[in-house]
Amino acid sequence: MEFDLIELIRRHTAVSRDDVSLGIGDDAAIVAVPAGRELAIAVDTLVEGIHFPVGTDPADIGWKALAVNLSDMAAMGATPAWALLALTTPSGDAAFFDGLARGFAEMATPYRLALIGGDTTRGPLTVSVVVHGFTAPGEALLRSGARVGDVIMVTGTLGDAAAGLRCLAEADRSPYTALIERLNRPTPRVSAGQALRGVATACIDISDGLVADLGHICAASGVGAEIDAAMLPRSSALLTHFADADTIDLALGGGDDYELCFTVPADQAAEVGAVMARIGCGSTRVGRIVEGNSVRVHDEAGETITLARAGWNHFDA
Ligand code: ADP
Ligand code: MG
Repeated sequence: MEFDLIELIRRHTAVSRDDVSLGIGDDAAIVAVPAGRELAIAVDTLVEGIHFPVGTDPADIGWKALAVNLSDMAAMGATPAWALLALTTPSGDAAFFDGLARGFAEMATPYRLALIGGDTTRGPLTVSVVVHGFTAPGEALLRSGARVGDVIMVTGTLGDAAAGLRCLAEADRSPYTALIERLNRPTPRVSAGQALRGVATACIDISDGLVADLGHICAASGVGAEIDAAMLPRSSALLTHFADADTIDLALGGGDDYELCFTVPADQAAEVGAVMARIGCGSTRVGRIVEGNSVRVHDEAGETITLARAGWNHFDA
């Protein structure tokens, strides 16, 4: 039974790569790192009821489990190559495995990412993915390089996924499909991250909310940050369905967007914006790096905005 389910996953996710000598089927996979490259490795876990609501489409779970890991590759400027999938499910329901593998494959195929192994166990629904990507030595985008005077930029729009989560409670979800899609099917900014190699001084993906994640750049770089709330990029879907003050709150504190937040020297910001536009990725300046050790947000009048809840932390009371 378990082996039929693994075979089902293997069939859906088959991608042939020269650097995979041995994929799913033995006790371990065998791969070859290309000469002159280093590995970037990350793992992220999605737990039912915490990272996705009970009842989420299995294909959305498969997509998101890989997407959040590819977002970590994007934040490092790495090129994704291989993944492992550790799956814990309450039952061996073939339809569930089929849907999950399809969603996973939809996200993997455009990157020619190979699923090279995993583990399948029974228990509360939990999906862990390990992803491996390539970087040239010294080229990875770190959190620690932001300098006073750098411009802070973000890709895409912010707050949509957190707004989508609120909309799940609506009896009729149809007006909110664009927002719910951002929650269930995030798009990792892989090519944007690669385009930022050698240009961005620091980079992080926004999984816990802009203020929280920019705070990690500040801590790692030993700097502070100022955000202009009026400059926060917000989608038309968000602006249509939420009050202006709520859109600011969601853009600052809402998690799950998987956009990139990065810093660039001020004299390169315009060029970086143009490069991002050329690869079809919107980007917006939202603030600047300053001396200090915290993230401050101000409105158009220069008044400081305090967040209701600064990001997501699993271990907060
Ligand atoms: P072992 O008992 O040696 O760990 P398993 O029965 O767990 O072997 O796995 C058999 C093969 O199937 C291994 O190559 C493993 O990597 C792969 N595999 C198991 N579960 C998954 C999964 N959910 N996704 C992808 N590959 C898997
Ligand atoms: Mg095993």
